[in-house]
Amino acid sequence: MATTASFSGSVGNTPLIELTRLSRALRRTILGKAEFLNPGGSVKDRAAASIVDDAERRGTLVPGGTIVEGTAGNTGIALALAANERGYRCIIVIPDDQAPEKIDLLRTFGADVRVVPAVAFTNPENYYHVARGIAEQTPGAIWADQFENLANRRAHEESTGPEIWEQCGGRLDAFIAAAGTGGTLAGVASALKARDKRVLTVLCDPMGSALYSHVTNGTLEVEGDSVIEGIGIKRITQNFAGASIDRALRVEDREAVEMAHWLLRHEGLFLGGSAALNVVGAARLALTLPAGARVATILCDGGQRYQSRLYDEAWLRENDLELSGGALEFL
Ligand code: PMP
Repeated sequence: MATTASFSGSVGNTPLIELTRLSRALRRTILGKAEFLNPGGSVKDRAAASIVDDAERRGTLVPGGTIVEGTAGNTGIALALAANERGYRCIIVIPDDQAPEKIDLLRTFGADVRVVPAVAFTNPENYYHVARGIAEQTPGAIWADQFENLANRRAHEESTGPEIWEQCGGRLDAFIAAAGTGGTLAGVASALKARDKRVLTVLCDPMGSALYSHVTNGTLEVEGDSVIEGIGIKRITQNFAGASIDRALRVEDREAVEMAHWLLRHEGLFLGGSAALNVVGAARLALTLPAGARVATILCDGGQRYQSRLYDEAWLRENDLELSGGALEFL
């Protein structure tokens, strides 16, 4: 067996998992790209490694430098590991409404964590603007800027998308995913369309996000709200802009929570909320396609990060998200 190097060498080449119980129930094949198996535990490892590589190549990040980022958690976790591997400092700005597990991990990994109030993007105190300000004021620092930095999308165009295509032997009818920065969806969609224009590319959007209305009718309308972390956005980022997306569908938190617990009980897969929401989207999309259709999605991160929330009965009750019977009727 060949060996690989440290954090950077362990990112990517994740399995493509057939969700066999779900596929049997739907008579369509649902495939999940196991991004929770990356060394930092999420799909954001790819974007972080790509952003750091790009900054080193450009010469903006040099020994003794600092990586600064505003993040819902996973990008920060990945950047903290990349920084440790390559000898940089890492400052992470995170809103205070994210799961405590992610904030704890950032601290354990040695990042300088700045928790800020969760406020709207238009407020200068929003984590995004605070991170930019810190980077500007810190000598030798780069701002990773995952939302606008196209090294994010490129990671998925050059690795995630081609891996999916190869792993399904070129037999794929559709790809569907939710978007945070949009890097994963736009990058994978671009890679798949380049290989076969007939692959249907679809956004599944949580409530509280404007992307569904953007894809459907070109507006930025927001309806409702969501507790699922890492996805949904109210503006069009450079990483999402111009993405090759054929259509969009909406998924409610309740459905994502039901699916998270169903996948744990019936597939033996312990996943985060965005992964579960993606699987709901994949299942619903598959049911609109002929029997035997093959639909791929992203299993973004694992459930450990949300044990005190999505997998905690009291938390679910407080958020009006109690589980129903545990079967697939919610689809
Ligand atoms: N799921 C989770 C848990 C995430 O942290 C992210 C990243 N924000 C995503 C999905 C979405 O990925 P992307 O930023 O590539 O759209």
